[in-house]
Amino acid sequence: MQKIAILYDASQAVLSTFDLDEVLQQILVIAHDYFHLQNAAILLLDEGELHVRRQIGWDEGQDKIRLAVGKGITGVAALQKRPIYAPDVSKDPRYVLSAQNTRSELAIPLMVRDQVVGVLDCQSENVNHFDAETVDLLALFSTQASIALENARLYSLERRRASQLEAINVIAKQMTVSLDQPQLLSKVCWLIQETFQVPQVSALFRDEEELILKASHGTLALGVQAGESLPMRNTPWGRAFETGKYLIEDDITQGQDGRFFPGSASRMSIPLVFYGQALGVLVLTSNRKCAFNPNDAQPLESVADICAAAIQNAIYVERMRKLAYLDGLTGIFNRRYFEDRVGEEIERVRRFGSCMGVIMLDIDQFKRLNDQFGHLLGDEVLRQVASILHQQVRKFDIVCRYGGEEFVVLLSQTNPQHLLQVAEKLVRMVENWQFPGVPRPVTISAGAANYPEHGSTRDELVEAADRALYTAKKSGRNRACLATGPVHAEHTPHQKVPELAPES
Ligand code: GH3
Ligand code: MG
Ligand code: MG
Repeated sequence: MQKIAILYDASQAVLSTFDLDEVLQQILVIAHDYFHLQNAAILLLDEGELHVRRQIGWDEGQDKIRLAVGKGITGVAALQKRPIYAPDVSKDPRYVLSAQNTRSELAIPLMVRDQVVGVLDCQSENVNHFDAETVDLLALFSTQASIALENARLYSLERRRASQLEAINVIAKQMTVSLDQPQLLSKVCWLIQETFQVPQVSALFRDEEELILKASHGTLALGVQAGESLPMRNTPWGRAFETGKYLIEDDITQGQDGRFFPGSASRMSIPLVFYGQALGVLVLTSNRKCAFNPNDAQPLESVADICAAAIQNAIYVERMRKLAYLDGLTGIFNRRYFEDRVGEEIERVRRFGSCMGVIMLDIDQFKRLNDQFGHLLGDEVLRQVASILHQQVRKFDIVCRYGGEEFVVLLSQTNPQHLLQVAEKLVRMVENWQFPGVPRPVTISAGAANYPEHGSTRDELVEAADRALYTAKKSGRNRACLATGPVHAEHTPHQKVPELAPES
């Protein structure tokens, strides 16, 4: 009767809390107070090994040991799923020392359903300390202790789930704030790393047949740098991308793709899917094997969905921004782009003490060409002139349609002489071009102005180039002129050059 009372009290005590540490503490207090054990420990199973989670009375340092299942009295109890008793440890070859004063040891597996989750290890200074009744009682107590441990585990899982839900909410709010794609991806990695305590989070993004590493955050080494590509075919992340389903790998230490994630032992790949279309993959890596649990998959997939939507938004915005900068007829940049860029460019060259130039170009007698051959052919001439200009300048120079039949080229690292040469080359290229359907040469005039010689602001440079263009028109068209002297910003209206006499 007294023993049942003990058991009842003990069960009440361990089941009174959901906090794992408190449960563990209660179990040991009971072992000590009710069962008079000097040395007791709770070992929990983790990745196939038992490690001491809490103990009383063990020798210094012994509590750091990890025991393989099957090793020591506790390991055998875990392996055989039944209590193991060594009445005299000095005679038991299985015994592994944990405290010098131990004479007898009883290990009872802690089971949840048919799974071993740990071992309650009881040791005494007396040989043959545990009688059959005490063993039974401790075994009964340990089933209560197992329930308490499982409750605590479930509770902490729930708490974790709740904090993950809260984090998802935070991530969702943060995602809507940023529309800039690179910034967004880097933030996604950072937020997931922080919230889900993942050592390294990387975002891969689809580019044709490859996945490009766009951002990564964490403490592990990576074998690729941002902007570099990873193969898609026959890779786990490629499979997650192609199937649209997450993939967990418990041990990647022997994998062939180790060079991409050299510091990692396990990995989870989660596709970024928006309306059924995969945009990329989030790759979570850990330096521990078996670090990813399907329990974590659902909140992570929710995060991935939010991210995919935010990334798609950022892509749309980027596309819209680009469209707003493109000329519909010729496909080259428009005046708005020129105006935004020239300001930035001036700022840059000012900072680096460098130089740049602007060439304004205008098709000669274009009105007459339209009148003679029709607007449709006029449009085609505009497209071809745009294409010639685009092909003739360096890759980093920028050609824009300024309006109507006027173009402007923004060139970096120029001096006035070089700029004039480029302008003349462009004039000659157009003059010599055979425009299909136009039985005579089409010509252009050009005006060039350089920073800092001819102006130091956008308006001054455009003004100077425009004046030079006017000079070119006035002196016979089909030629290039360089601006003369600096211009200062008060605006002079666009000047009109008289038309040539009609061709006879
Ligand atoms: P100048 O040598 O002095 O530059 O003479 P111009 O005839 O080229 O100059 P003006 O500015 O009088 O005429 C420009 C013409 O360009 C008027 C307009 O009909 C034509 N134009 C402007 N935009 C387009 C376009 O998108 N397509 C076509 N086909 N013509 C256009
Ligand atoms: Mg014009
Ligand atoms: Mg013209």
